[in-house]
Formats: sequence, structure tokens, C-alpha cells
Amino acid sequence: MKDPSQVALLGLDHTELTLLVKGLGEPGYRAKQLGDAVYRQRLELLDEISTLPQPFRFKLAEKDIRIGLPKIENRFVSQDGTVRYLIGFADGQSVETVWMPEGDGGEAGDGSEAGDGSEAGTEELLAEQNGRGYRQGQNPGRSTICISSQVGCAVDCQFCLTALLGVKRNLTAGEIVGQVCAVLKDQNVSPPEDRINLVFMGMGEPFLNYDNFIKAARLLVEEVGIAERRMTVSTAGIVPRIHDFGKEKIRPKLAISLNAPNDELRARIMPLNKKWNLEMLISAAREYPLRTREWVTFEYVLLGGVNDAPENAKEVADLLRGLRCKVNLIALNPGPGIDFTTPEAERVAAFQNVLRDAGTATFVRRPRGRDIYAACGQLKRTVEIATSPAL
Ligand code: SF4
Repeated sequence: MKDPSQVALLGLDHTELTLLVKGLGEPGYRAKQLGDAVYRQRLELLDEISTLPQPFRFKLAEKDIRIGLPKIENRFVSQDGTVRYLIGFADGQSVETVWMPEGDGGEAGDGSEAGDGSEAGTEELLAEQNGRGYRQGQNPGRSTICISSQVGCAVDCQFCLTALLGVKRNLTAGEIVGQVCAVLKDQNVSPPEDRINLVFMGMGEPFLNYDNFIKAARLLVEEVGIAERRMTVSTAGIVPRIHDFGKEKIRPKLAISLNAPNDELRARIMPLNKKWNLEMLISAAREYPLRTREWVTFEYVLLGGVNDAPENAKEVADLLRGLRCKVNLIALNPGPGIDFTTPEAERVAAFQNVLRDAGTATFVRRPRGRDIYAACGQLKRTVEIATSPAL
């Protein structure tokens, strides 16, 4: 089986595309034509690239070079419009990628900071005027795509179904970007005209596939046209990489999957805490160089009777005191193989109140399909989805 990264155009940046075309004896401007075809038109076949002369398309095919857009193998549609895609790659592996119409970047919880909708409404109107065929009820100005960074995951969070898969392999930068391209194409939307949010919160730990994740983020900004302020990456707490990430020129917003207020409890549900404990993690968050109007988001999956007591909330408030941050609370949806239960709504509200009273901006996720993004790896078990053969 071929290594997709060796032959796919998807995943190459402008410099690499320029080297490729020049190496084939073509003028440098062909790199821009290839970039447009791959990242902005999101074509599937070399033959569809009408801007290229046919002999050059033949030359690419002869060299076994292809576009490399991944295939949508299946799609599941939830009642609230959330679409879960199974996206397959050249070697037969697949990941889940999710489209949330009227999503909010995976950060708002109670709607209070999801935007006023006026801009999005204008975009929708403009899109209609431009003849784009959005599906009924969708508001592309606020849509969010949740993407995976690995096939499976090695981090072993005890409340996560993806953890049960183990890690099969890292995704290449092209496969990460390819998920976005495949979904944009399927949904008939196109940034930057349509303001799409991205969350790296699907399968896998992005900071354990750091170089490919960073390259993908750069390609998404520079080639696909999605602003970095519209992207959020969630890490379980790979502390050295949080420090590295703060130095990147192009970087999405940072979210940290916290899930426990002290080391004892966190090590129980997130074994990686034994390697990078809360002191190291919170120090990294405090040192993280935030940009203007940026904050760190802490995700906290509430597990009934485990980490959801008001005293736990008090501990979280103490832990985060003085940090420019907000907290997203997510009540667990239990799944097979997961030994935890969902807390009652009153308990979630009480937890939120303690944090809010302590001055920490805290939101509870609405019970919609997007709950699947509460923390990385949640997607496989939390959304109630009806299988549908077509949108
Ligand atoms: S929650 Fe995220 S980091 Fe933890 S095992 Fe699941 S996918 Fe991996």
C-alpha cells in the first residue's frame, strides 16, 4: 500500500508545490494553479484541473501524483443537523469528522457568547444572493467542523471511547486538511466567504502528532482561507508541546481538557497526569502567551459522583484563579465500555454556580449534537444520530 504523503498534492504547501512543478520542468506559477485546484476548488481528480495544460496533467499522473482528497465513506445525520462523517484514507484507515451547522467554535455553552447572529444572518443572505445552495436551516456563518488528528488515540483517558481503540497511526498534514476539504465540498460552503470554525477535538491527541498538526493549521490558514482565530485545538495536557505551541507564528486558540481538580483524581481518569501533573499543566497555561482578546479554554467532563461535587468546583476555581480563561462543562454521555455515569442536571448547574460565583466564566454545553465535542474523543459515544443514506 502506498504512503499517501508521498504522492498526494494535498498536504503540500506553496514552497513544496513550487519545488514539485519546477522539478517537472514547469513554470513556478503552476504551483499557484495546483494550490487553487487542491485547496480552494477542492477538486478530486487531476483531469478536473482545467487551468493546467493536458500534457502537464499527464506528467503528474505518470509520476503517480494525485490530489489525495479523502473519501467520505459514510455520513450520519442527527436531528439537530449535526453530520458525522466517516472519512477514509488511501491505506484503508478512517476517522470521524463532524459538521455542526450553527456551531460556535466548540466554545460557547449556553448561547450567551455564540455571537448575536446578525453577521451570520447577513452572510446567509449574501450566500443566497450568490446562488449557493445551503441546506434548509443551516447558517454557514456559524458552522463548525471538528477534525481528527490521529487514527485512535494513545492517551487512555478513562471516560473516552476513542481511548479504547488505542492509536493506530498519526494522520499526515494532508489527511488533516483533507477532512476539512471533503466536508466543505460536501456542504457546499467555502471560506473565507463562509465563516467556518474548526476545532481539533476529534479522534487523537493533536500535540502527539505535533508537526503534522502545525503544518495542517498553517495550510488551513494560508491555503484554505480559514482564520486562525476561528480554530481551537484541544490537548489532554502534553505540557512540553503547550510551551512549543505558544511560540508558533500561526496557532489556533488553546483548549485544555482538565476534567479533575486535583492530581489524585486526575491521574485516576487521565493517566497522563502521572507524567505531567496539574502544577506543570497550570503553570504552562499561566505562561502561555495569550493574544489580544484570547483566553485559554478548560474543558471539564462531569462524571457522576466522581468529579462533579461542589467541593470539586471550588478546587477548580482555586486552581484557575487569576488565569485569563473560561471553563466549558460537559455532562458525560455514557457508552459501552465506559464505567462512568452522567451527573444530574442540578448537579451540573450547582457546579457551574460555584465557578461563576468565584468569578470564572463557565458554560454548560447545550444538549445538541455538538456535545460530542465536549472533549476530544467524545464524539463516538455522545451524539444520538439517526443513520441516513443522504442529507
Ligand atoms: S479524550 Fe482525547 S486525548 Fe483522551 S483518550 Fe480520548 S481522544 Fe485521546
